[in-house]
Amino acid sequence: MIDSRKSTTFANIRAELDVCDTRDVSHMVKALDNGYYKPLNNAARKIWESKYGSLSEETPSDKNDTNVGVRPPKEHGLAYGLARGVPIVLGIEELPWPRVPSLQTLGTNLIKELDNNEPNLVPSTGDPDDDKVAAAALLAKLGDPDFKGPHSLFSMECALLNDARVRPCSTSAWEGVLRETNYACDIMPAGAVRELDLEDVHQVSVLISGPRVWLLFPLSNHNLRVFMKYVSRKGKKNRISHAMMFDLLQDGLAFIQQPGETLIIPPFCLTASVSSKLSISVGNSVTLATGFVHRLQNMDLFMTQNALQDEKVRFVELAAFYGELMGDLSTILENKVSKYDARPLVRSITDIWSKAMPKICKMFTTLYPKPETAKGMQARELGRLLAGAMAEAAPNHRDDVPCWICGVAIKWNRRPVDHMIHRLGKHIVESHWEAAVSPAIMELKRKTAEDVGPDPNRRRSGRKRVKRTAIE
Ligand SMILES: [Zn+2]
Repeated sequence: MIDSRKSTTFANIRAELDVCDTRDVSHMVKALDNGYYKPLNNAARKIWESKYGSLSEETPSDKNDTNVGVRPPKEHGLAYGLARGVPIVLGIEELPWPRVPSLQTLGTNLIKELDNNEPNLVPSTGDPDDDKVAAAALLAKLGDPDFKGPHSLFSMECALLNDARVRPCSTSAWEGVLRETNYACDIMPAGAVRELDLEDVHQVSVLISGPRVWLLFPLSNHNLRVFMKYVSRKGKKNRISHAMMFDLLQDGLAFIQQPGETLIIPPFCLTASVSSKLSISVGNSVTLATGFVHRLQNMDLFMTQNALQDEKVRFVELAAFYGELMGDLSTILENKVSKYDARPLVRSITDIWSKAMPKICKMFTTLYPKPETAKGMQARELGRLLAGAMAEAAPNHRDDVPCWICGVAIKWNRRPVDHMIHRLGKHIVESHWEAAVSPAIMELKRKTAEDVGPDPNRRRSGRKRVKRTAIE
């Protein structure tokens, strides 16, 4: 086997990292020198795929595919890359615009966007006005590759690049796409490191100017433990530092992205990036139906990461995450995913429902501590949709319809379909939603009561009755 440390790619990655002088990068270089990371090439990709698998089914073209390189042939565009569970790189021919606007035009347009948007400056100055000033200072330097500044600017929406897209931003044109976000720019000054991040959907990133070094790690049990050690103990004693993670994470792939190249990052891939020179990328996230079960199973990872956020953004982000997850669940249950038969997916969701429910519950009760109204509405809607999917799959109207979650049979007795869906929905709400949510709400109420001290008006004996929302 060829020693990856002797490869040209490896030497190039090391040369890029050597330019940067931070603690994170010195740990990355040390790990590279120790042979912990492999360059992102065919061999490494094959190992990743065999060890960690592909998240989604194989595309038909894979059957006769002898080219397993990271640069797929032309006909293998974005859709092909998204269908794989490994990081994929597309060449300049896959650029989503006829041509890339000049850095000057881009800078001027992005500075204009600052009038309407609060910039996501990292690190923030702590003051929104100062953040805008610092963002404008960075945007004025887009043409200077050696510009070293203290701040990076992430997720900056850009109307210019969205309007010029060759392919419209539409989920209806693609198979199995649940949602696709607008393009937004990430700008990193020379020497900047982007912290390790974990997303539950595909990330697409096109580099406009660069280069940018990427480190990508699969979410193995070991890597998850390392990441959680860092995330859940942030700010506490005995935690591991961000830099230390680069010594501990396993099976990492290193890659230098050049301007014009598109990197497709699969869901649940730990990702860090380094800019040796000022770099600008444009990207978005694409949510596929095929990744939904995995998202539901791992939704608690978002809770852990989210708990570290600023109070100001924490609930907004949590509400957005939960809203999207439940919205996507409804789309799947109604079998309304574009060009995709979601019915087998509903089966997979009901198979893991009992395990996912405590996680849904935790997020739901965090968002709605007094959720009587919301609980009733959302539970009924989900119950109706789940019941609809189960009843529709029933072979005829004489046999009993089993609940896919617990197997309990609901007697059909030649009732009309909507009557059956109502009965099945009622069972789902009572057994598979309220049974899980009610104890969580009780627990939350108990904790709140402890926080505010005993209620003097509360009777000493007898427990408060939990108000239940009627099903009908
Ligand atoms: Zn059931």
